[in-house]
Amino acid sequence: MDRAAPPVTRFAPSPNGHLHLGHALSAIVAHDLAVAGGGRFLLRIEDIDGPRSRPELAAEFRTDLAWLGLEWEEVPAQSTRLPSYAAAAQSLRARGLLYPCTCTRSEIEAAGARPGWEGLVYPGTCKHRPPDPSRPAAWRLDAAKALAETGPLTWEDALAGTQQVDLSGLGDVVLVRKDLPASYHLAVTLDDAADGVTLVTRGADLFAASHVHRSLQALLGLPVPRWHHHPLLLGEDGEKLAKRRGSPALAERRAAGEDGRMLAQQMRLQQLRLGT
Ligand code: GLU
Ligand code: ZN
Repeated sequence: MDRAAPPVTRFAPSPNGHLHLGHALSAIVAHDLAVAGGGRFLLRIEDIDGPRSRPELAAEFRTDLAWLGLEWEEVPAQSTRLPSYAAAAQSLRARGLLYPCTCTRSEIEAAGARPGWEGLVYPGTCKHRPPDPSRPAAWRLDAAKALAETGPLTWEDALAGTQQVDLSGLGDVVLVRKDLPASYHLAVTLDDAADGVTLVTRGADLFAASHVHRSLQALLGLPVPRWHHHPLLLGEDGEKLAKRRGSPALAERRAAGEDGRMLAQQMRLQQLRLGT
């Protein structure tokens, strides 16, 4: 990629809960990197979580971002792109890179799954048995086959530097959910390519996922962006900020009359002090 080309960044929230300060930071970092490079900042609503996706939250997100003083271009929401996910999954399936998995969560736990980078690594139970057509199936990426097909790969993180693709920490991830034509991994990889995103900006909690996404880009012949995983904001207890731990939603702060631009400015200064 031409490093001097103006970056295209994005903020890609899922409308299944209110935005909190951690989301504000992701949006501000993505926005500011685009502005600093004379590029574009996109908003993409990742609304394929079935009944958990609530359209009124997407509307709230736009109000939140404007309150923070950000400007963006909105690209089509994920729910409008299901056919592209299905087509990509079909091509991977036809190449023998996916296998159906009928396991439930408790079956995976009972099968002696080892801990990985994000919870348990799927032990490959269904890879070695004939599919049971009477049970709903998810489709998993066969990481060993994927690696054999792509060979060794690297990806670039703006803060962490060059990374060797390593699929062992996540194992054979789900690419097609039981209830949906995609999983987060497949949808986000296809969408970032379709939207022309050249700098994928998000919190460091999604760092591990980029190994999978880089592999999918190679398998599907997609352009390869760079990544910028920013450090997470931590609460006073050192825990990741999240709604469930009582971090107030941006919408609540807005309703209470707080100045969003001032908040964004304070967050920028705090990041500078932390040296990130
Ligand atoms: N939609 C994902 C989330 O809200 C983020 C996707 C991404 O930035 O890659 O957690
Ligand atoms: Zn299985």
